[in-house]
Amino acid sequence: MEAIVLSAEWSPKPGFKLGSKDVEGKLSYLGSRVWRDPHLSIQDVKTPQIGDDEVLIEVKACGICGSDVHMAQPDADGYIYYPGLTAFPVVLGHEFSGVVVEAGGKAIDKRTGKRYQGGEAVCAEEMFWCSYCRPCADGYPNHCEALQEIGFSVDGAFTKYAVVNARYLWNLESLKKVYAAEEDLFTAGSLVEPASVAYNAVIERGGGIRVGDNVVILGGGPIGAAAAAILRRAGAANVILSETQRERAELGLRMGATHVVNPQKEDFAQRVLEITDGMGADLYLEATGLPHIVFPDIEKAIWEGKALNATVVIVARADAKIPATGEVFQVKRASIVGAQGHSGHGTFPRVISAMAAGMDMTPLCTRKISLRQVPEHIIMLRDDRKECKITALL
Ligand SMILES: [Zn+2]
Ligand SMILES: [Zn+2]
Repeated sequence: MEAIVLSAEWSPKPGFKLGSKDVEGKLSYLGSRVWRDPHLSIQDVKTPQIGDDEVLIEVKACGICGSDVHMAQPDADGYIYYPGLTAFPVVLGHEFSGVVVEAGGKAIDKRTGKRYQGGEAVCAEEMFWCSYCRPCADGYPNHCEALQEIGFSVDGAFTKYAVVNARYLWNLESLKKVYAAEEDLFTAGSLVEPASVAYNAVIERGGGIRVGDNVVILGGGPIGAAAAAILRRAGAANVILSETQRERAELGLRMGATHVVNPQKEDFAQRVLEITDGMGADLYLEATGLPHIVFPDIEKAIWEGKALNATVVIVARADAKIPATGEVFQVKRASIVGAQGHSGHGTFPRVISAMAAGMDMTPLCTRKISLRQVPEHIIMLRDDRKECKITALL
């Protein structure tokens, strides 16, 4: 079967030391320090075999993620941009949905409590948490110490068949009543993963909101736009999206934002205070990856607004330091929390049940392509900010 494979050369930077969980020449938790000359290709790979607790899935839809773009993008020295867990060569693709073809004897469907029968529509978590380590045992699978990630360190879903342990799978049968067409069903299913990243950030880590709260989302990419839908549905009075790109601003409004602020053309804090009648927001989501640029604006809105107890959630990954002023967070009882991942805490099933009740994520997908078009679109997304989610249909 054809698969989109990413290869790169193992060439550690001077001073790089193999981490305790790294595997020489094959796997690193610090990808951008060891991998250079990334190369995308369409290769013929073997159809995988399943184990006792695994499921063979015929992939129907798989979205391109920013991390796919960064894994395949070399910097000035030829090293990949993506800083995290990677083992090459690997079949890319982790935002996917499909149909169960074959299930091992112990591959239990959490919807029925029985073995998968075959024919069920499913999606998968991207994080293969181990369940044995201390964070997993304590109920924090997003912080697993022995994490593997599909499409990063194990073969992913830009291909015809993928294998996933049943514990990471979620049944999508409940979406069939809202998405009659197969294409819509599986497109929606492929968006559960990024929507769950947004849900984990604003509800689980950010503490959620109360009906009537005001929220600000900085950055209208897939995570920010999904967060707009979730927070609007959670009862936010005003969902203010800060975004400079016109297409992303329009998509944000379609997803649930009530207002868009362009911080390059308007005074961000002043606009937030105008919209919220002088209060400022209760929740701020940093989804730009440019904390050094947006943080002074966030602080100004918190400082000048009347609202106490604002929470700033950091979901975008960035190397840059956050310029925070203790005084602002002390006087305004504000806090900053980090958010990572999408597993555990009932997040996937809640996102799926909200989607089954009409929370439509499918507008996030702004372009549909074939499997063979994936490499050129991964490269195109290095510069393009007009598209939101590009999804391969198989
Ligand atoms: Zn992703
Ligand atoms: Zn673990």
